[in-house]
Amino acid sequence: MNKIVVCDPGHGGSDPGAVAGNVKEKDINFQYALTLKYLLEKEGFKVFLTRYADTYIPLAQRAYMALGKKGIFISLHCNSGPNPARGYEVWYHDDNPTSKILAIAINNAMQQQKFIPTRGIKRDTDRYKSGFCVLRICSHHNIPAVLIELGFITDPADRAALLMRDIRIAICQKIIEGIKSFMEVK
Ligand SMILES: [Zn+2]
Repeated sequence: MNKIVVCDPGHGGSDPGAVAGNVKEKDINFQYALTLKYLLEKEGFKVFLTRYADTYIPLAQRAYMALGKKGIFISLHCNSGPNPARGYEVWYHDDNPTSKILAIAINNAMQQQKFIPTRGIKRDTDRYKSGFCVLRICSHHNIPAVLIELGFITDPADRAALLMRDIRIAICQKIIEGIKSFMEVK
């Protein structure tokens, strides 16, 4: 498989995503995207971001950027909720069995770090009837795609971990391990 990744830092511009404790989801997503890009490029990957600054990009447009690139699509988000909850999740769209394999590979690698616990892989149509827009579009165009909820921005422990550079690097390295093991078996 081609070593090409389209990385999508969720939200941006007028859309901050979830906000808690003065921290905006869009900023964490972007920091993770930059770290992922830097580390992937060191390993010989070609990486495209759906945004290179703090700008608003509509959901469908993000997915369409992956068309024709012959790579995989990774969307980065943070969770939030009114109830106590923490941990990361890896979401996939069920129409595309390859996306589920990618989700499993990334979760298997990510759960080897101990900073943010796993909540497992999740099927997007279990949350919304038609799934997540970016995953649905990629899936229909046969692009392996996952959406990673990196942690709960509303949880003090997750939020503190998400803000730490060393932990960000460690988690991104695990995401890359997952991507590489997926590409080896593909
Ligand atoms: Zn989000």
